[in-house]
Amino acid sequence: PRVLVTGGSGFLGGTVVDTLLARGYSVVTTVRSTEKAQQMRLDRPHVSANQLEYAIVRDIAQLGAFDEAVQQNPPLDAVIHTASPFHYRIDDVKRDMLDPAVNGTVGVLESIKKYAPSVKRVVITSSFASMWNNPNKPTGSTYNEKDWNPVTWETALEPENAAGQSGYRTSKALAEKAAWEFIEKEKPGFTLTAINPPLIFGPVGANTSSVEGMNTSNVRFVEFITGAVKEKCPPTGSLFWVDVRDVALAHVLAIEKEEAAGQRYFTAVDPFCNVDLVDIIGESFPKYKDQLPAGDALELGRYPEGGPPYKVDNSKSVKELGLKFRTLKESVEDTVKSIERLLEKA
Ligand code: NDP
Repeated sequence: PRVLVTGGSGFLGGTVVDTLLARGYSVVTTVRSTEKAQQMRLDRPHVSANQLEYAIVRDIAQLGAFDEAVQQNPPLDAVIHTASPFHYRIDDVKRDMLDPAVNGTVGVLESIKKYAPSVKRVVITSSFASMWNNPNKPTGSTYNEKDWNPVTWETALEPENAAGQSGYRTSKALAEKAAWEFIEKEKPGFTLTAINPPLIFGPVGANTSSVEGMNTSNVRFVEFITGAVKEKCPPTGSLFWVDVRDVALAHVLAIEKEEAAGQRYFTAVDPFCNVDLVDIIGESFPKYKDQLPAGDALELGRYPEGGPPYKVDNSKSVKELGLKFRTLKESVEDTVKSIERLLEKA
């Protein structure tokens, strides 16, 4: 089968591409420029030119951006849409976040409907961001696929929804809502599945060439092992975690399993706090002991009083997709080792 992956140059997108290739798929990936395509080629010398092809999509915020990319020969069987901005440097939330996230998602669905009738399965990378902040959830309760972020277009520009991390979360929630609305209204000839990961850790692969270019969710590991936050551990900022290899596999299983059609999957392992990460790094890599925050410097990285405020129910991903989640120890160790390889190259 032949699959289009959007955003193959990203942390997750690159892992999805490599997971598909390892399972024998023929892959086309969108990237923003020929330079990025060239870089991805150089980074994957073992992959032949017809196993992995490239389509240039310069700006996913433009409707129609995917019109050409979805028309492939041989034609596509499935599309996995991972491309979306993930950072907290927001000047204008509509331009920087909402337009690329929402138009990118609706745009790819429209292009497939118009120009790629061979596509039967579409998977989008949503996020726990589309589920969190359910106002009816008391502390101590459990998140699952029934939870929705209450943000709407009407409330999206209010300061608490529009700045920094909240602006990113709003973009993901509106994008997933728009995708399901598209399916309901347009009744296209393909099915939709949403994958909703929380904060993603795990090894950076071929796409990351330096620690300066580190993807947002792995930045804290660079800060820990270089001593940048030795005096003050940053607040954890997220509730739950998952490993990138498990999230990538979830996307592929979602195009393979019939029962995943029309579903969303909360691919989270369990709660974590930054102190957990510091503890694992300290135990597995004693050489970083002097770089890591300790004692009072850990204060902000601890769980709030009473422990993790929410729990995870990932049973749907385990039962229906057959996912087996990696442990935090394995994920942290492999993340650190991958960053060490970058630091050695520098
Ligand atoms: P990256 O920043 O590594 O990847 C983002 C990808 O999207 C890159 O390929 C990037 O292209 C592309 N992209 C962003 N904006 C545009 C645009 N305007 N036009 C074209 N391409 C664009 O982040 P991640 O791999 O972490 O994120 C991938 C997906 O996973 C996103 O949908 C994100 O919301 C989601 N996600 C990530 C989580 C995490 O913790 N990492 C958690 C939950 C969901 P380029 O390389 O050229 O910049």
